[in-house]
Amino acid sequence: MFNIVIFGAPGSGKGTQSENLISHYGLFHISTGEVLRDNIARGTELGKIADTYISDGKLIPDDLMISILADILDNTPEAKNGVIFDGFPRTINQAGALKEMLAERGARVDAVVGLEVDEDELIDRLIKRGKESGRSDDNLETIKKRLKVYHSQTQPLRDYYMKEGTYLPIKGVGTVEGIFESIKAAIKEKCGK
Ligand code: ATP
Ligand code: MG
Repeated sequence: MFNIVIFGAPGSGKGTQSENLISHYGLFHISTGEVLRDNIARGTELGKIADTYISDGKLIPDDLMISILADILDNTPEAKNGVIFDGFPRTINQAGALKEMLAERGARVDAVVGLEVDEDELIDRLIKRGKESGRSDDNLETIKKRLKVYHSQTQPLRDYYMKEGTYLPIKGVGTVEGIFESIKAAIKEKCGK
């Protein structure tokens, strides 16, 4: 199993670069944000719970999020060759849970692609996206909350993975193709593929 985590603040381009990674490495894509938005759109029980957190710029509680992820991993045969984790983990607890889930499969997080983008650029991108996405969390007030949550709960993972030796810092500004070239080069150097 070859597993990549794509990591970065809201609006850093995780979804966009995931598309490139899936086709290049033949990995299965798990975007927790997309899973939650799909549940909201279908009006499921999970969707109703998720909506209250997402619209308020908060994270879904760890227990719930971890069980959702475990369920996907258990029930998706296509995930057995490897996964690109997009939007998970977002807390140290989630990272610990992911480590265990992968260890049970004799696997690990092979690389963490960290898209680094400064805050003004993030806000610009998210406001632009909000004009088309219709997402309840892409408005200035909620964007500011999400960035705060990112700094307090998610950013510490950068050090966590740095210590594990898997964190690959990538400058997340420039063309989509240019950024993908940097990602490929960093993965090649780290993992030899
Ligand atoms: P990007 O623009 O880089 O793709 P994003 O932050 O806009 O990132 P998503 O990853 O799609 O968006 O997540 C949207 C929301 O879903 C989060 O703000 C959060 O409320 C919820 N969410 C997604 N993943 C998790 C998670 N691992 N733990 C808790 N909540 C999550
Ligand atoms: Mg996304």
